[in-house]
Amino acid sequence: MTPSVIRPLSGRNPEFYEMSCPKCGWKETLELDPCEMDVISLSGEPDRGPRSVTRLPKKCPECGAKLQKKKLPITVFN
Ligand SMILES: [Zn+2]
Repeated sequence: MTPSVIRPLSGRNPEFYEMSCPKCGWKETLELDPCEMDVISLSGEPDRGPRSVTRLPKKCPECGAKLQKKKLPITVFN
């Protein structure tokens, strides 16, 4: 599923990345949000959707191998 976000007046688009480990298969979708602003929760549950991080991890939390990142296309409504 493509993440959809609404961020009026923020002046920038959030970026989503799929981080994956080529070694052990660990995978997580993360939202890169260096400013941690305009956090929108559609359901009120904090753990819904991609985790928001200020910095992308470089190493796999499971095995320590170097992660691969893939930028995900997103839909932004203004
Ligand atoms: Zn790994």
